[in-house]
Amino acid sequence: MNVYKKGSILIATLLLFVGVACNRNEDPHLAINGAHSLVLPPTDTLITLKIEGNVEWILTSTASWCTPQASSGYGSSEVQVAISANDEQGERTAALTISSSDAMLAQQVTLTQQRLTPDASTKYRLPVVFHVLYKSESNKKQNVIEGHLATLIEDVNKLYANCGVDLGLEFVMATHDPNGNLLEEPGVDRHKINEATINSSFFMGYGRDPKKYCAYMWDPNRYINIFTYAFEDKGILGISHFPYAIKPHAMEGLTELEYDADWSELPWPQCVSINNEYIYSHEAYYTITDVVNTLAHELGHFLGLRHAFSEDPETYDRNVCIDSDFCTDTPTYNKSAYDVFLQACMSSDGRIDDEEKELLLMREDCDTGEEFRSTNIMDYAYSEANRFTPQQAARIRYVLEHSPYIPGPKVRLPEQMPATKSTRTNTYKLVTFE
Ligand SMILES: [Zn+2]
Repeated sequence: MNVYKKGSILIATLLLFVGVACNRNEDPHLAINGAHSLVLPPTDTLITLKIEGNVEWILTSTASWCTPQASSGYGSSEVQVAISANDEQGERTAALTISSSDAMLAQQVTLTQQRLTPDASTKYRLPVVFHVLYKSESNKKQNVIEGHLATLIEDVNKLYANCGVDLGLEFVMATHDPNGNLLEEPGVDRHKINEATINSSFFMGYGRDPKKYCAYMWDPNRYINIFTYAFEDKGILGISHFPYAIKPHAMEGLTELEYDADWSELPWPQCVSINNEYIYSHEAYYTITDVVNTLAHELGHFLGLRHAFSEDPETYDRNVCIDSDFCTDTPTYNKSAYDVFLQACMSSDGRIDDEEKELLLMREDCDTGEEFRSTNIMDYAYSEANRFTPQQAARIRYVLEHSPYIPGPKVRLPEQMPATKSTRTNTYKLVTFE
């Protein structure tokens, strides 16, 4: 026993000695094996980092699109990093930093992800931010209940996904603010304001101070900005700006800009406004004030669609017969004449008698005299409002791929664009639709 014990102590001492010797030869070190910078394709990608070291480490990323699958570890190891497809407008960069837990050692790898040139197969994921403007914090129409706006966007997505044509787009509640901070409440930005109501026309830019509400806007090349507030005119459900085109990528009906200006030059907040009076107006049965239909309709305008009915492009006169939406597959009709009929049928509370519904769904094509059923999302009251046509889908697609101040990858290349401001002037035309 004694001999054995002495032997054990000797072995232990030797091991200890070897151990100390080893540590002396191997100073603490930590490195990511390979290049200090990487260029990545625009698609979903998984990369492997080879970490070499003998200390505890922490791995961090500066961007939400670049996610290491381990954030800490010890010694040499391999860590996979998930890179999501680049849905922004240019190339983008992120940094991965590995550091020892005592912060004495650190190394950084810079990642550059190339820009995506969209093609017909590109699925657009459009980040949405609702700017909720409220005077009274406890008033839930103004300070909308948490989670409600996400539900509305889900419902709009369902409506768009089942509209009869493939739009190749989806709205998503923004996960991060413009500074890259994670949003506690995705897609929602709340502000207390002094006004009990706001004139929606002034808000959109028709008043003396068209930039008044620009400060609330987030970069429209990264987010679709939707404002909810109490409209002064309770009869208006929503209002939207119309998109632009930039030379040489013109499209019928869109104001053409000379050059791709920074969004801070915009003379008004490029956005959709929704009247919070109707923010919970969503029933199993159709109501004229349905907020999901309103939002789907206003987003249609925001993405380049005009009303399916006849409307003079300059005066907005609806007592006309013009195919004013640039889509020949949406039959047109005289909206003024229809409204007279609608008013006569509707009861004072806005509800429509079941028997009258079928009748009210019908329209008369003012070009051909043929009857048709109103199903288009860009028509309203009274309509099934659940369809887009192929030509409408093509317009939306063109806007997504070409228009400025709309999120998502664009076809245009910087070298194809008239570059300088000094020789050209942009003329922004205020075009809105309710
Ligand atoms: Zn409209």
